[in-house]
Amino acid sequence: YQGKRGTVDVVVYSGEGAGHPHQWLVVQAELRHALERDELILHYQPKVGVTDGDVHALEALVRWQHPQRGLVPPGDFLPAAEHSGLIVPLTEWVLRRALADQLGWTAAGQSWAVSVNVSARNLEAPGFPALVAALLAEAGTAPQRLVLEITETALAGDVETVERAIGEVAALGVGISIDDFGAGYTSLSHLRGLPVTEIKIDRAFVKDVADDPQSRAIVRSVIALAHGLGSRVTAEGVETAEVYRWLIEAGCDEAQGYLIGRPAPWPQVAPTFAVPTVIDTERASR
Ligand code: C2E
Ligand code: MG
Ligand code: MG
Ligand code: MG
Repeated sequence: YQGKRGTVDVVVYSGEGAGHPHQWLVVQAELRHALERDELILHYQPKVGVTDGDVHALEALVRWQHPQRGLVPPGDFLPAAEHSGLIVPLTEWVLRRALADQLGWTAAGQSWAVSVNVSARNLEAPGFPALVAALLAEAGTAPQRLVLEITETALAGDVETVERAIGEVAALGVGISIDDFGAGYTSLSHLRGLPVTEIKIDRAFVKDVADDPQSRAIVRSVIALAHGLGSRVTAEGVETAEVYRWLIEAGCDEAQGYLIGRPAPWPQVAPTFAVPTVIDTERASR
């Protein structure tokens, strides 16, 4: 794996390679350099209110701008980062960058919150709530402007530690979002007692609501569940106007997906606002 300039070539982690420890080591070494050389970048994807199409938040999605391989998606390096513990400095980098960018769009007159994805490893690491508090203070950002997205599967880790960390972060005033809801195997009991402010319905259910009665039943139930828990509900992976229209009728609060806007770097990120058009068409046809 010695590259031409004496650097170690990256072997990108893919599901198939998971069993090859040397590949993990190579990715880990490269990733450590990537952090030092500032090769990571954030793209942002808007979450909009379904009834008005207003942007409520931008979700930060990390990418690796690799000098040889171009833009590497998070699915290709996050598993190695989590495995090695590099996810801890990586998340600190993402949080600092995301809060700086949030200040950028605030200065440009936009009140959008910023959403950051965190892994179970972050929530298990001692001092994570203190780190979040310190980064918010450093940036001078109101905690209400930050949302942490936690996948359902993260809740199945060291449950007690994870729940305590979530409680401490929520106590700061930071929003707590359960990401990819419905995709994991987590029992509903994990939701009980968690200070959840947002539930994101997994794309797997959202994409089929236009023509699958079972997906519709599941999405309706999750909307009712979220509202019953006093939380807002966001549909992820909204790709068509048909799905968007259905979500309005079903009482979903927020939507995110390629229909509304693809992930892009700030400040290029411009929601395409397909949304008002969808609503106008709807109104026009009544
Ligand atoms: P996620 O948080 O559920 O993010 C949504 C993923 O779906 C993103 O992929 C996004 O680009 C993609 N997506 C958004 N709208 C659509 C759509 O309409 N159709 C389809 N087909 N896809 C859509 P991405 O950026 O590759 O991220 C994948 C996952 O990696 C994320 O899933 C999240 O779990 C994780 N991730 C991304 N950035 C970070 C990070 O900074 N830290 C951590 N811990 N995880 C991250
Ligand atoms: Mg997310
Ligand atoms: Mg998601
Ligand atoms: Mg997802």
